[in-house]
Amino acid sequence: MAERTIEVKSRLGLHARAAANLVRVASRFQSKLTLQRVEGGREADAKSILSILTLAASYGTALKLVAVGDDAEEALDAIAGLFSRAFDENEKAVLQPTAAKQELRYQGLGVSDGVVMGRVLRLQKGARDVYRAEIGDGDVERERRRFRAAVRLSRRQLEAIKQRAEKELGRGHAYIFDAHLLFLEDAKLTRDVEDHIVTERSNAEWATKVVGDRLLSIYAQMNDEYLRERGSDIEDVIQRLLANLTGEGLPYPNLSEDAVIVAPDLLPSTVAELDLNHVKAIATDSGGWTSHMAIIARGLDLTAVVGLRDFYHRTRTGDRIIVDARRGEVVLHPEAATIEQYEFTSPRLESESAAAFERGPVTTRDGVAIALRANVELPSEFQAVRKFGACGVGLFRSEFLLSRPGLMNSEQEQYEAYKALAEAAGPDGAIVRLFDVGGEIANDAGQHERNPALGLRAVRFGLRNKQIMRTQVRAILRAAPAGRLSLVIPMVSDLADVKAAKKLIAEEVESLKTHGESFAQVPIGAMIEVPAAVLTAEKIAAELDFFELGTNDLVQYTLAVDRGNDQVAAWFRTLHPAVLYGIKRTLQAGADAGIPVIVCGEMASTPAYAVLLAGFGATDLSMTPAMIPRVRAVLAQIEAGEAQTVAERCLAAACADEVEEIVRAEFRTRWPELFPPNMLPRPTEN
Ligand code: PEP
Ligand code: MG
Repeated sequence: MAERTIEVKSRLGLHARAAANLVRVASRFQSKLTLQRVEGGREADAKSILSILTLAASYGTALKLVAVGDDAEEALDAIAGLFSRAFDENEKAVLQPTAAKQELRYQGLGVSDGVVMGRVLRLQKGARDVYRAEIGDGDVERERRRFRAAVRLSRRQLEAIKQRAEKELGRGHAYIFDAHLLFLEDAKLTRDVEDHIVTERSNAEWATKVVGDRLLSIYAQMNDEYLRERGSDIEDVIQRLLANLTGEGLPYPNLSEDAVIVAPDLLPSTVAELDLNHVKAIATDSGGWTSHMAIIARGLDLTAVVGLRDFYHRTRTGDRIIVDARRGEVVLHPEAATIEQYEFTSPRLESESAAAFERGPVTTRDGVAIALRANVELPSEFQAVRKFGACGVGLFRSEFLLSRPGLMNSEQEQYEAYKALAEAAGPDGAIVRLFDVGGEIANDAGQHERNPALGLRAVRFGLRNKQIMRTQVRAILRAAPAGRLSLVIPMVSDLADVKAAKKLIAEEVESLKTHGESFAQVPIGAMIEVPAAVLTAEKIAAELDFFELGTNDLVQYTLAVDRGNDQVAAWFRTLHPAVLYGIKRTLQAGADAGIPVIVCGEMASTPAYAVLLAGFGATDLSMTPAMIPRVRAVLAQIEAGEAQTVAERCLAAACADEVEEIVRAEFRTRWPELFPPNMLPRPTEN
């Protein structure tokens, strides 16, 4: 055995290309070669690039090099020589391409408030499509072969890319693919994946994902910026492997600092699963104000800007980023001056400062009482129901209980969730919506409908999958004695949907009675969010205990505008007279039938729109809990009678532009202090 202490002399530290040179030199010798940080003690195999990079050895780091074997001394000489020559790097050439990146700004739509500074963590749709499949003894060899084949294919692809990069961009730019090739063949990766297949009896995709995640999390936690950025190179390699194994795949690393998730698109359930200790914001290429992902982000108080179009492809994991939802903007590679400016002006806001919020219904100046309830998607939001003074839970989007699209929870799991909900909601109760799956949700489960929003969604899904609906109904009925639960049927088109759902519910009531189970009957309502339901609302009302008015879908279906598609966001006009007419009609049908109508779309969360809703006669609103204090403050200072005058003027308009103009003019004159220009719809530029 021989050893020597050496120092990193390259200004960039022991970075990817330097490490690649080191691996090349070390691999010429038979001896086992180990590098150890003198401070901190971390150890690495000098023949493994992945292992070397985990040393995070920056300029000036002292390392102990230990060689065990016949050619130990020669190996030490060669490696020490390489260190003293700063890895044969032309530092200028290496430094140039990475020199200060230019600050870039992108415009999107701020859908969840806040201003956050952090580092990019790229996520791509498909991560969840890597499943663990247990394999039998006989299949281990097959999985290992599949993995090796994916490595070979990835190598051929990378060599071709490298050649093209050399030809088109020059050698200086192609070196990174040398590093990718070394990552790909590194025993730390290949051996670990194969070991995982063998020891865990797991399919090759899953083993690749587990090992990849582990490596990525090591890189994500490095202090050295340059080295941390190498995590995105490993991410590329892992993605390539997964793509070659499955056609899809995504690493999901853990970050140790403020992470900003950047993705083309995000599943609401992915947002719900994010580690909120680390993830501070979201920036996506697509999405809109009422997409479920945005709703969840608001519920979790997670800053979000969506509709950034081609942003994802311009980022790399580790890039510095500012997400400014106020301006609907993101800043990539912010300059020092920009960072400084944001550091001075980014308080995270107002409403949170007050220690206690009022509770109970709000009363307008002319004496109309309006209940303010909470929309809830996740158990983590239960606390907010009390905190912001909500009159119970006006809408529990139960589908967010499902951990994965297509994977249903057991009756017992659901029972416990609804019981906890009933307890958290208190005497004002909670309304559980039957699973609104289908549409964007079922589509992500791989059931590709041609037109998912018009497809087997919500009550249609339940009526086609009766066992799932029965299980859920039973769980709700059994949990009902724990508090005051109601049940709402999503997306009914007409009386037939309501009758079919009610029949099934009645059958479950009978079955629980027969089996002597403890349960309670619950009020039954329906979501009115499809124009057909609006137009037949009087008929439907006769069969129900209450209505819930889902304005998000009502806008989508009335105007034929996909609520999650940023390309048509300009057509998603909540204040379209046709939508307002639907709202008025539904409220009227409810009033005529003597049943409550709870408005629970995002409209209710927006103070100016809440005033209009009050003008149409709404006395029950359900919204993102954090918005309750703001909506309360506004409603307490207006007269419902005045709001009605404005609402009626709006109904006479011909298009959304006209309505918005009326709203701006009327609100400015009637309630100038309550509605500064930024709280009113902005004029459209088309
Ligand atoms: C709505 O459509 O307005 C609604 C409240 O339901 P969701 O947003 O979950 O579709
Ligand atoms: Mg809806």
